[in-house]
Amino acid sequence: MEVDLAIGWMRATADAVAAASDELTRLDAAIGDGDHGVNLTRGFTAVAAALEAGSFTSAGEVFVKAGSTLISKVGGASGPLYGSALRSLGKALPPGPTVTPADLAAGLHAGLEAVRKLGGAEPGDKTIVDAWKPAADAFEAAVAAGGDLTAAAGEAAVAAREGARATAGLLARKGRASYLGERSVGHQDPGATSAALLFRALSEQTGN
Ligand code: ADP
Ligand code: MG
Ligand code: MG
Repeated sequence: MEVDLAIGWMRATADAVAAASDELTRLDAAIGDGDHGVNLTRGFTAVAAALEAGSFTSAGEVFVKAGSTLISKVGGASGPLYGSALRSLGKALPPGPTVTPADLAAGLHAGLEAVRKLGGAEPGDKTIVDAWKPAADAFEAAVAAGGDLTAAAGEAAVAAREGARATAGLLARKGRASYLGERSVGHQDPGATSAALLFRALSEQTGN
């Protein structure tokens, strides 16, 4: 992955989040406070602008900038969580213009660890983790099996989407949705849904 692809991924995520804003907000209205689409659209629009204005020598720098921007622009839980994930992804990548699929696999796991450290969520708690973890695992498995970036990103996107869908059956144990207890069951988690959009954007940017 090179600088242009890293920027393209973040821009494509901004477009995807904006296009799905109403849907994300509807999901959040059911089990949270109805601002997830607005929060992420504001955040990723700012990310796209910051990347447009900056100049970068590595994909890692792109993700660190994207993460810092999300942390500063989004007030809701999702801003610091996605922001920390992207910052940690960026910091885990090697300096220089080229990042291998194996580097990216390790970076995606570093991003996951940042989310878990900040928010304390375990898999199955009905959060971003439930899409990000299967995506990172699928990406890593595809690379280990000899897959290239396109193949790995495609597997990650499918795993993230399935993980997000499966959150509908889960009871929320973190974030605002956890206040609903049993009433959170039957609704897909907004943050897992947006994480699936992020991985779909990566897949599409790599040529799938
Ligand atoms: P807020 O809940 O502050 O309004 P958002 O609506 O933008 O923030 O984001 C809500 C999403 O954030 C949830 O759907 C969930 O996926 C995610 N989330 C909330 N708390 C956590 C946590 N502790 N760990 C991981 N993800 C979380
Ligand atoms: Mg909300
Ligand atoms: Mg909120």
